[in-house]
Amino acid sequence: MESTPFIWPFTIGLLFITCFLVIIIGIWISSLSHIDKSRIIHSIFTPKSWLALREIVLESLLHRKIFRKNAVLGYMHMSLAFGWFLLIVIGHIEAFYHYQTLSVPAYKAIFMRYFVSGPSTTLSGKILAASMDLLLLFVLSGVALACYKRVNSHLFGLKKTTRLKMGDHIALSALWLIFPLRFLAESISAGIHHNGSLISQPTGRLLASILPVQSLEMPLWWAYSGALGLFFLALPVSRYMHIPVEVVLIFLRNYGIKVQKLIGGYSRIQVYSCSRCGICLDSCQMTHTAIKDTQSVYVLKHIRNKNLTDEKLFNCLLCGRCQPDCPVGLELNNLRLTQRIESTKEYNSSYDYLKNGNVAINPQTEVIYFAGCMTHLTPAILKSMKEIFKVAGVKYWFMDEDKTACCGRPLMQVGQYEAAKKLIEHNRERILASGVKKLVVSCPICYKVFNEDYALPGIMVMHHSGYLLSLMADKRLPVNKLPLRVVYHDPCELGRGSGIYHQPRLILDEYAMLVPMKNEKEAAYCCGGGLANIKIIMNERNQIRDKALDEYLAYQPDMLATACPLCKKTFAKSNKLPIHDIAEIVYMALRQNTSKTQDQPINKKKIKIEIWK
Ligand code: SF4
Ligand code: SF4
Repeated sequence: MESTPFIWPFTIGLLFITCFLVIIIGIWISSLSHIDKSRIIHSIFTPKSWLALREIVLESLLHRKIFRKNAVLGYMHMSLAFGWFLLIVIGHIEAFYHYQTLSVPAYKAIFMRYFVSGPSTTLSGKILAASMDLLLLFVLSGVALACYKRVNSHLFGLKKTTRLKMGDHIALSALWLIFPLRFLAESISAGIHHNGSLISQPTGRLLASILPVQSLEMPLWWAYSGALGLFFLALPVSRYMHIPVEVVLIFLRNYGIKVQKLIGGYSRIQVYSCSRCGICLDSCQMTHTAIKDTQSVYVLKHIRNKNLTDEKLFNCLLCGRCQPDCPVGLELNNLRLTQRIESTKEYNSSYDYLKNGNVAINPQTEVIYFAGCMTHLTPAILKSMKEIFKVAGVKYWFMDEDKTACCGRPLMQVGQYEAAKKLIEHNRERILASGVKKLVVSCPICYKVFNEDYALPGIMVMHHSGYLLSLMADKRLPVNKLPLRVVYHDPCELGRGSGIYHQPRLILDEYAMLVPMKNEKEAAYCCGGGLANIKIIMNERNQIRDKALDEYLAYQPDMLATACPLCKKTFAKSNKLPIHDIAEIVYMALRQNTSKTQDQPINKKKIKIEIWK
């Protein structure tokens, strides 16, 4: 039994997908910037490639991150991916062993049970055949779980699942058929030719005793080959395109390539790497409102299908809560920002009315203070910062005292990249002209953009949480612990956006009694007030805020603390819990410190009333 016509559906499918992947990935890589191409060339023969291979095994095959989320979901993904991978690898080893040559065509390994008669006679051959039977059983258990997930996703830790489109239906049906058909074809052949092993042999004998196996053998091998070929043909128009593209993504990510502000080959690779697992749906607080179809998975799908509307693109808080949960590690916020810049018509903005770069600064100035628009709209924070500077004897230049210049990030978040660049350039010139080496900001939105998008060589950008901590360390700020139980709300742009989780907590540990919570740091809630969402209505913002507040209230705190003027404003609109920025808490503690006498106990009720005011 040599080559037979049933191998053709598989062979055509394999040839098609190989050519398609080479062309499309070639196009994406060729559209990378020169810097990124040079990164690839200089990284390819370095340990970064080993790290990428390690990540491919741990995440693409074993699905470690999904395992951490839910063991059943992790097992399902692992049995399908790792099981199929091992079937291919061990199948080829078995074929090399049997034919005693390395030049065995792929179909001979894939359909080996059809081409081989009689059982294995050597111990190695027996072990390989038994391994193949067990591996197929392993993959079949994953297929069974995948079918069950379609009717009950709760067992898999998912409250919501994504809907399939036509390409997905075809590829999914083919995928689910591949392994049962392989099992039947191999068992029937084992019943006729007495090959196979632990599971296929007894199944074959049983089938041979009740069915006309001779007439069933060829149709089953045709069906198996057809399912493989169909899966390969449907791959480019289905979510399963993520399987090969994710491998490329992992290599490029390990080489240091990142999503840029403008769409390029790497952002395409990121978009096609989404498996539509739907895990990001459960992370998104907007699903607690009527907003059910604008989450990351849907936006990536619409980008791929070229039918994304502004209604979906701009209906997102850019809170980043979905990003740490994405098992593929996609840069979800950056991808959405890139798409917003692509989709937005730029206005011809002019900022000539702003002051130019000439600034007269006292040579003793230690820091530049940039409050930001939201801090100006939250005067208690501004007042607290001014008083803290006074107590600590800090000489500062209040750069946006006249409230004219925004940092530029809100414009960037809504896709006005060129306008944002003009503001950034204006502010940058003034900062550099000042000659001061430290810039302190009170708003996490400003902090992120100053840190990431301003080129400020030699200038240290600090959020006020870090700066207050440095003043404490230098003993320029007295410490006075208030007897208040405080829960801390991580602002999205400071926590997930900039990785600052500990500085505010260290301050609160000193000035109050910080109560740890379940959903904090990377898993912290968004307040719902994000400027990046220009489609959400106020009622929906309130629903998001109230759900977060309900969780905070469960810890019975005296106060909610944050480190962002926007979060403060958003939570303050509800009267459920007093809310204050860390700067206000420090200032209140300083006031208590100077007003109390040595043996006078602190009046908790009085403090609460004063702070609440
Ligand atoms: S964005 Fe990430 S978490 Fe969301 S569906 Fe895609 S792969 Fe899954
Ligand atoms: S960034 Fe936030 S609001 Fe936007 S989709 Fe992700 S979790 Fe939802």
